[in-house]
Amino acid sequence: MIYLDNAATTRPNENAIKRASEFLSTAYFNPSAMYKEGFSVQTELKKAKLAILSHVADSAFFDVIFTSCGTESNNTALFSFGKRGNVVTTEGEHSSVIEPLRELKNRGMIELRVAPLQADGKVDEKQLLSLIDEKTTLVSVMHVNNETGAINDINALAKTVKKRFPKVVFHSDGVQGYGKIPFRLSKEVDLYSISAHKIGGIKGTGALIKRKTLNLRPFLWGGGQENGLRSGTENSFGIKQFEYATEEKFSTIQEDFERLKGYKKILEEGLNSEVYSCFHFAETSPYIASVSAKGMRGEILQRMACDKGLLVGTGSACSSNSQLLYSHVLLACGVDKELAIGALRLSFSPQTTEEEVVCAVQILNEIALSYGKVGIQRT
Ligand code: PLP
Repeated sequence: MIYLDNAATTRPNENAIKRASEFLSTAYFNPSAMYKEGFSVQTELKKAKLAILSHVADSAFFDVIFTSCGTESNNTALFSFGKRGNVVTTEGEHSSVIEPLRELKNRGMIELRVAPLQADGKVDEKQLLSLIDEKTTLVSVMHVNNETGAINDINALAKTVKKRFPKVVFHSDGVQGYGKIPFRLSKEVDLYSISAHKIGGIKGTGALIKRKTLNLRPFLWGGGQENGLRSGTENSFGIKQFEYATEEKFSTIQEDFERLKGYKKILEEGLNSEVYSCFHFAETSPYIASVSAKGMRGEILQRMACDKGLLVGTGSACSSNSQLLYSHVLLACGVDKELAIGALRLSFSPQTTEEEVVCAVQILNEIALSYGKVGIQRT
């Protein structure tokens, strides 16, 4: 089996699981317990916090709140700071940003303003800035798009926004950026959401990186864990496994980035150009390639590829239940409907090999030729 759906989730890092299991087998105490065994677990969680943070930000200015996933991190940020005035976001956001903001709008709490994307997949900066005014409380712009891989320069955007409107809170969904794009957070970014399972961590662990001086309101209330900002007994296994997975992931981040760029090129150059169009979005993550077969349907190609042992995505796995045929992100980039309906997302991990990519190209070319010959009507 060739797995090229790593933007949906990655295979957990086994070494990190082993180390976290060893940790949990002796340090299983409640981190809030008032005896030394509990304190020592708490100390280990603090160590994990600093390690996870140190890869992308300065601990003098930023803090980490552990959550259950990227979705919770996004919801925590948006429900805390999107309470009044207007909130500005982009057309490319993941449903875990769009839906909470729609909910806040439906509750009559905010006016929602959505900036368009450019043809290269990035947010249109001019339009974004034109939507921000004195009543804007929050701006949320994703770092790396989960469907196209387009990278927004969030440090530069946050700087420009803060220069004009210093009180605005700037949030970024960094779920597809953390551990993949060599980068450090500037002080102008207030909040950055991350998720463990996209980089070899296990599902059910996420974090919200927060500027220290920002007054966040909790999303979950209860026992006051995480300095009162996220109640609930900490997922100590998941957190330690996340820490260990980041150690390995960040130690090769630059070389992985360069190698995967090469794989993406092999893919794009190897696909039959009479059938497939590759979306060459500027400055994209080498972890994500978006391709489309005109006149065919992505979910059918996906099934045909699966039958041949190749697992790929069609769009955001999180929106597959809603049976959306068109990716809202591709349409926002100006891709026509006929192409958008045939979109496939191929996403890599550092474990992906060149042989797998070459084989994936072969399979994709084969299935495109047999499409229509197996009782499937072209659209
Ligand atoms: N944001 C982006 C850009 C994503 O790709 C995803 C998951 O696919 C999420 C948020 C949600 O993360 P999680 O699955 O950890 O809730």
